[in-house]
Amino acid sequence: MSDTAKKVVTRFAPSPTGLMHVGGLRTGLFAWLWARKNSGTFILRIEDTDKIREMPGSKEQIMESLSWLGLTWDFGPDKPGTWGSCIQSERLSVYKTYAEKLIEKGLAYPDPYTEEEVEAFRKKAEENKLPFLFRNHRPETFESWDGTKPLRFKVPELKRYEWHDEVRGALSAGMEALDDFVLIKADGFPTYNFCHIVDDIEMGVSHVMRGEEFISSTPKFLSLYEALGVQPPIFATLPPILGESGTKKLSKRDGAKDVLDYRAEGYLPGAMVNFLAFIGWNPGGEKEIYSIQELIKSFSIDRIQKAGARFNPEKLDWINKEHIKLLPMEEAFEKMLSYFKDESLSELSLERLKKLLPVAYDRMNTFSDFHTDFKNGEYSYIIEAPVYDQKNIIWKTDTLENAQKHLREVKSILSTLPDDLWNLENIKHAVWEYAEKEGRGNVLWPLRYSLSGKDKSPDPFTLAFALGKDETLKRI
Ligand code: GLU
Repeated sequence: MSDTAKKVVTRFAPSPTGLMHVGGLRTGLFAWLWARKNSGTFILRIEDTDKIREMPGSKEQIMESLSWLGLTWDFGPDKPGTWGSCIQSERLSVYKTYAEKLIEKGLAYPDPYTEEEVEAFRKKAEENKLPFLFRNHRPETFESWDGTKPLRFKVPELKRYEWHDEVRGALSAGMEALDDFVLIKADGFPTYNFCHIVDDIEMGVSHVMRGEEFISSTPKFLSLYEALGVQPPIFATLPPILGESGTKKLSKRDGAKDVLDYRAEGYLPGAMVNFLAFIGWNPGGEKEIYSIQELIKSFSIDRIQKAGARFNPEKLDWINKEHIKLLPMEEAFEKMLSYFKDESLSELSLERLKKLLPVAYDRMNTFSDFHTDFKNGEYSYIIEAPVYDQKNIIWKTDTLENAQKHLREVKSILSTLPDDLWNLENIKHAVWEYAEKEGRGNVLWPLRYSLSGKDKSPDPFTLAFALGKDETLKRI
């Protein structure tokens, strides 16, 4: 075998019929990871031969979703290959050539019946509680195909097929799964069953990764590969994604959303990729937070599970939070800022917000959560001094006099800390000894309250650091 024949080539082949939901994208991600892991090729192919179900804008949305997640394609709608376009509706002549090859071999024929007649066959079979098989009605002699009638595959041999699936192991199905299926419809468009195989051959696809709904049709595919005299690719069936209940397939009711909705909600693409990768796969071990590069390195088909995998939005939140914590400070701040575009905050407020950001992490799953908290007044003290309620300044059973005494003391301690040494560590260090001596709550509660005016807010050291020396002393 030549090197090129051994090269890993995977494809993601969505139909542009609607939203790019997470289930679909997980399939794309696995194919992408496998290609990248093997320094192979990843193809984005648009399967748009069902013109009735096609939705305008869907193709663009697919491309945007993949781009957002960083799943770059080597060939795609905007990057044709040596085989030509990666959009099926632009490849009709290729399918026609393959159809003609089959006609020449006597393995394809025009369906002589009207739609009504085929429907009547189907009904009859149903009435007799038999599966409908077109091959039972295969005409004795074939007319030549002029393109106005559906072209059907003539199954060459009725037999049992056994094949290997990289995830499921040995699979097999009998001849009940074989039929004279339509290759090209009367409207000139090929069926999925036909054209995806032509494309997988033309594009040199080595591994086909897709959902379990295609297992039952695999014997049809295998008999077509045989008819064309081509070795089939390696099949890897991915586990279904189950809704939160863990019993049924993920549906909109379980919160299955368009992938770009997650972008709008402030999830990080790296977190989304990490989350999707773990739906039905895991590298083993305890570690669950992975960068894209780490996923590429660890990914393997033999750790893809067979059983359905639960879609758990809470896990996505957790993963996102962990990814936020790993962002370099400047990057985190930049990302956060994009949610504050309409706030027109002063430079000073922004500066304070930036210093608060690390402690805000614990309260948020996404940057958008942070923004919502901000809009709800959670961080109002960064813009202006709070209005105080004197009784709130007292910690538990302490007295107002004591609280005031502690504040005076802390103020004098902090005023000796030079401006250029005003950082989190030094502030804490300066106050700590006194707080330990007088009782942490007695000292730190009044301090925190005097800075934020809130019962709940970040610790007093962070607040003092964020507000700066002058403002801190003023508020105390
Ligand atoms: N267009 C098919 C789908 O969206 C692709 C299936 C496959 O990967 O072969 O389900």
